[in-house]
Amino acid sequence: MGKKIRVLVAKPGLDGHDRGALVISQALRDHGMEVIYTGLRQSPLQIAQAAIQEDVDVVGLSSLSGAHKTLFPKVIEELEKRGAGDIPVVGGGVIPSEDIPFLLEKGVKRVFTSGSSTEVLANYIQELIDPQTEQVPPPKKIAHIGIAVNSIDQGMSFYTDSLGLQLEGVEEVESEGVKVAFIKIGDTRFELLEPLTEESPIRKFIDKKGEGIHHIALEVDDIQARLQQLKDIGVPLINEEAKLGAHNSQVSFIHPNATGKVLFELCQYPKGGEA
Ligand code: ZN
Repeated sequence: MGKKIRVLVAKPGLDGHDRGALVISQALRDHGMEVIYTGLRQSPLQIAQAAIQEDVDVVGLSSLSGAHKTLFPKVIEELEKRGAGDIPVVGGGVIPSEDIPFLLEKGVKRVFTSGSSTEVLANYIQELIDPQTEQVPPPKKIAHIGIAVNSIDQGMSFYTDSLGLQLEGVEEVESEGVKVAFIKIGDTRFELLEPLTEESPIRKFIDKKGEGIHHIALEVDDIQARLQQLKDIGVPLINEEAKLGAHNSQVSFIHPNATGKVLFELCQYPKGGEA
């Protein structure tokens, strides 16, 4: 362990509620960080000065007032004016998602929404400041979209005949009790899933919901590292260990309770296999 990460938690603007900022301060302390909280209604200039005086590693801004679009960039500007533009600034509070790209463009490193956990925030700051913690890169692309069908022979015709896409291959995946057909589209694929047994999760899915989109698969480079990272931030997994999927890939599913009810598969292809 190196020296403790120092964080300035600041509330620019006029809103008079700081419960959120206090909760965040405590959560970061629980993660072993030193937190300096500025208190309410600080001006961007005061925040920048406090950050420099306190020699912090990162500034966390919280705003509920709706003035984040002017105040957050102003804090960055004041830091830059004083030669402290290298102190990263992250933001949170009540920030509409449509404002996030603007804030990132203005130099805010990352914006956390009301759906973000303090765990995610703490891990992010840890990785940002301590170069020894290795970051897990985001998934590379959508590997495929899985679609449950009663019969591949029947279901395929829309893709191949009507759309003119090409069937790439069909194989059985024993662990899931399914037959799988891959249909290539550009850089990614549709994966038609036909149940082979009564116990197959796809059989149960079709019985319950009917045919249709079953899951979205994300391609990752290091599935074990990704699973560990998700576990660390409290995201529930259906499979904590990767298992063998189609094309000799390693796959694992994330619990839909953590994803807004979309079933996500993570998959890693063997090196030199799929691109
Ligand atoms: Zn899949």
